[in-house]
Amino acid sequence: MIKARISEVFESVQGEGLYLGEKQIFVRFFGCNLNCTYCDTKLDRFMEYNPHELFEEIKLYRDKYHSISFTGGEPLLHMEFLKDILKLTVKHGYKHYLETNGTLAPELEELIEYIDIVAMDLKLPSSSGMGDLWHMHEKFLKIASRKEVFLKAIICLGTLEEDLLRATALIKEVSPASILILQLNSYENHAMLSEKLSRFKDIAHQQGVTTCVIPQIHKTMGLR
Ligand code: SF4
Repeated sequence: MIKARISEVFESVQGEGLYLGEKQIFVRFFGCNLNCTYCDTKLDRFMEYNPHELFEEIKLYRDKYHSISFTGGEPLLHMEFLKDILKLTVKHGYKHYLETNGTLAPELEELIEYIDIVAMDLKLPSSSGMGDLWHMHEKFLKIASRKEVFLKAIICLGTLEEDLLRATALIKEVSPASILILQLNSYENHAMLSEKLSRFKDIAHQQGVTTCVIPQIHKTMGLR
């Protein structure tokens, strides 16, 4: 039976994005296909689970939860495993929330029917240091927009306005109803970034894209 490397399974509240504060069961997969400069989830430990073992662990959480958050790393690297676990959890009425870097479109295509909400990163090249991923993001967003999807972009002191404009153009073309969340890079000076975030929000508004500035509260509150 297929196995996946999982760094942790735990309950907490969602610390970012449109579902901030919702109680979730988190399944954090190990490993990522990117290496962003601001990454804070480079974990070095994991356990191997098969889908039934993970399902048994999920069932131990007995409170009322908004959804299961499949996060990482990049959960879509474990597509075959995800397909099996999602088939199990959907039968038991769980809602599925996917946190993803938005680059693995073929894998998303295989799973989109089982996903309820996609929280998709847009990796702005001048923020992430990962080069040009726009084509991958475009293919991914086309598939994600069959379900509820919102986007998140980290804004750093060095983030270029041209990257924001590219992001808003992509959203307008592919998924115009989607909201873009701007998040400040928690490793940089917040006072200087706040001014930039506010200017970027105005620019996005002028481009016709709904944008919210929502900080990553799990970092400031010490939540997992
Ligand atoms: S996509 Fe997310 S998990 Fe992967 S390197 Fe970038 S910030 Fe880290």
